Amino acid sequence: MQMCPDCDRVYDESEYSRCPYCSGELSMETGETKVKNCPNCGGIMYWDDEWLCSNCDHTIDTDEDDYDFIAVD
Ligand SMILES: [Zn+2]
Ligand SMILES: [Zn+2]
Repeated sequence: MQMCPDCDRVYDESEYSRCPYCSGELSMETGETKVKNCPNCGGIMYWDDEWLCSNCDHTIDTDEDDYDFIAVD
């Protein structure tokens, strides 16, 4: 694996001769995270086999598609 010095993303240099993220071959979708608003405290919940609030540790046992919005980092 090779880390691109420009965007710090890791790619397989046996498949790509240059960084596929910088060249546009691969989309930046890996930087998108499904998040949910915590009904308990209003914080942000992240998917980790269940929804877990990063603020109050409240969990919701639904499925991954039960997100409120997509966060892009
Ligand atoms: Zn790059
Ligand atoms: Zn919470």
